Amino acid sequence: MGSWVCDVLTAQGAHVICVDNFSSGKWNNIKHLNNHPHFRYIGHDIATPIYFGKTHPHAFSVPDIDRIDIVMHMASRASPFEFEKHPISILKSNTMGTFNALGIANLHNADFIYTSTSEVYGNPPNEFVPTPEDYFGNVNPIGPRSCYDESKRAGEAFVMAYILEHQINAWVVRIFNTYGPRIRWGKTFGRVVPNFIHQALKNEEITIFGDGEQTRSYTYIVDEIEGILTDIATPQAKGTVINIGNNIEVSVLELAELVIELTNSNSKIVHHPMPIDDPVRRQPALKRANEILKWQPTIQLKEGLKRTIEWFKTIIN
Ligand code: UDP
Repeated sequence: MGSWVCDVLTAQGAHVICVDNFSSGKWNNIKHLNNHPHFRYIGHDIATPIYFGKTHPHAFSVPDIDRIDIVMHMASRASPFEFEKHPISILKSNTMGTFNALGIANLHNADFIYTSTSEVYGNPPNEFVPTPEDYFGNVNPIGPRSCYDESKRAGEAFVMAYILEHQINAWVVRIFNTYGPRIRWGKTFGRVVPNFIHQALKNEEITIFGDGEQTRSYTYIVDEIEGILTDIATPQAKGTVINIGNNIEVSVLELAELVIELTNSNSKIVHHPMPIDDPVRRQPALKRANEILKWQPTIQLKEGLKRTIEWFKTIIN
């Protein structure tokens, strides 16, 4: 997602500094910007401090950049497969990383945007689906997803604390399952959309966890980026939290069938055990996005999947 933001902002004339340790991102996604006069990549893990505009004796320093207008904190691995393998770095990105990113915004008097997640809602009961921003969540603090869910929730609390104590200008968006070209893919950490597309293109078994009746609401990357950038450009959204996602709820089984149809695949569906604490339903309420941002996703799942499948064909053999 970060590489898309870099593309859009540089195209609009902004100077972009991309701080990434590639724990989940990829050099390949930004290498086309490498020689762009307004783009700079800095290899660093945001979970440890970084100072701009001065040399700090005990921290990574970038003394030659002293003006920062906007800080966007988009770091963290987000794949459930990785919650088991990298829980500590996930916790650090969303807590210490948010703290460090907020510190940069505070020091430079910059606007701040935090990309939170629908995972802060955990597993909402039916009466809270579609889920509004004022639903507090139903999260297991010690379950397999807790490193992500709880640290994202703590990240939001950090933002609110900086608004209270330092009066920073901050925006929080909660992102719902996002897909599109450049989506991260790998056999050991794939999310459902890249997994299914890859399996279908290879005519391999499509692995549905559980009966496939669980739902998600899939947002195409272009809609998501537009929603996030609209949010930070909207003064009335400052200091509040807004869901940015597609509100068409689709079951995992429907997704699998659609991917098979769009790829003309011979893949068969197989069922694997349902992971613990896998949310049953996920669908955003978009009242705030509609009313405050005048934003609404426009790209239908079928169209978004077609574009993603075309891109996938270029990266797999
Ligand atoms: N899922 C699946 N097969 C896969 C990968 C995921 O059935 O190969 C299911 C998963 O159990 C969940 C949904 O698809 O119910 C979305 O999973 P994803 O990994 O994209 O992330 P989540 O939305 O759970 O954070």
